[in-house]
Amino acid sequence: MDFSLSEEQQAIQATFRRFADREIRPQARDLDENPRFPKELFLQAGGLGFFGMRYPPPEGTGADIVTYVLAVEEIARGSLAVAAACTMQSLMGTYFVHQFAEGELRERLFLPALRGEKIGAICMTEPNAGSDLGAISTRAVERDGRWLVTGQKTWVTSAPVADFFTVFARTDGASAGEFTSPERAGGAGGHSVPPRKDAKELSIFLVERGAAGLAVGRSIEKMGVRASLTSEVSFIETPATCLLGERGKGMEYLRRILAEIRVMTAALAIGVGRAAYQDALTYSKERRQFGRPIAEFQAVQAHLAEMAVDLEAARRLTHWAAWRSDQKMQNETEANMAKLFASEAALRVCDRAARVFASYGFANDFPIQRYLRDVRFTLIGGGTSEILRGNIAKGLK
Ligand SMILES: Cc1cc2nc3c(=O)[nH]c(=O)nc-3n(C[C@H](O)[C@H](O)[C@H](O)COP(=O)(O)OP(=O)(O)OC[C@H]3O[C@@H](n4cnc5c(N)ncnc54)[C@H](O)[C@@H]3O)c2cc1C
Repeated sequence: MDFSLSEEQQAIQATFRRFADREIRPQARDLDENPRFPKELFLQAGGLGFFGMRYPPPEGTGADIVTYVLAVEEIARGSLAVAAACTMQSLMGTYFVHQFAEGELRERLFLPALRGEKIGAICMTEPNAGSDLGAISTRAVERDGRWLVTGQKTWVTSAPVADFFTVFARTDGASAGEFTSPERAGGAGGHSVPPRKDAKELSIFLVERGAAGLAVGRSIEKMGVRASLTSEVSFIETPATCLLGERGKGMEYLRRILAEIRVMTAALAIGVGRAAYQDALTYSKERRQFGRPIAEFQAVQAHLAEMAVDLEAARRLTHWAAWRSDQKMQNETEANMAKLFASEAALRVCDRAARVFASYGFANDFPIQRYLRDVRFTLIGGGTSEILRGNIAKGLK
């Protein structure tokens, strides 16, 4: 087995490592304390080709998933909030537009989005449809040759600054109440993808900022990833620019990218975990108690060792899932395992880092408290741990 990275992969990793160290890390605290969309960093990420990594040339660079997760890990080490916004743009915010938008739409929206100049958002979650996307009640109806979207979305990353929205809506014409049974259980999502027949009636629409009846609410105040802005978005008979793909195939299309979203989220978790680990390692050598560096105490060494093992194991699982995807091998279970393990491991790592820092880990002057707040996002986005455990268990033989 060959675990080594190619020269090209190492070069891309080094590029994003520099970007994180020189550009992102110095701003991370300020972005957390004064949350705002990191527009300049976004443009820089676009300039480095980050948003086009997963799209084939000539529009993108066509990097494989292993290379992509190396870049994601580095950006997340700089700031999980910046990484959350950037990865949303590089996958879900642009994916369906890349797959299905044609002609001038690609010129007008997709290509500028790859440069970080236009911003794409994904609207799946609703107040009553989180893990259970089968409960989506936003509707789209066709009238005079146009699709009109009506409904309420929430937790939409980058919504306050987004130029275009990819919106999941029902096109079956049934009433919303029919689809909200509490016993509906998770399928593939985490967002979960319900195996029911009515799931066929979810379709995907492109809606542009400025469309009539579209309103972006105020940003939701969050405990972590605060510079990755999230808002409610409402639609009242809002004309969609177009239907993306075929009517009723929304869930099928979503399934095609779920494993990649999970592998990517695992890399986000490893990135923030690594930041916490490296800070703790450095601090343990500098902080002296009882006449010697605390790194010489076995109890502190045990924390550092467990952190290193957790991160290494998370990285192996994540690269394994990414590699399988690059080889076109089935990788759903591997992606679920990688995301579950990496996010839970990163939470443990950030917690151990706080113990090594003790009171200083509790102080806002040090980033440990931010890592602890931020890392919790990786347990939710891309599928909660509970949903993932359920999915993994279903696939056990
Ligand atoms: C920072 C952030 C950014 C986000 N960005 C976006 C975005 O850009 N676009 C978007 O559409 N959404 C976004 N989301 C929403 C995210 O995808 C949902 O929060 C996620 O799907 C979980 O839904 P929920 O929070 O409503 O939890 P719920 O689904 O209500 O879950 C509540 C609890 O019940 C458990 N649970 C639910 N169903 C099951 C089941 N079948 N089996 C076992 N346990 C279960 C969950 O694991 C959890 O513990 C974002 C969320 C966050 C926190």
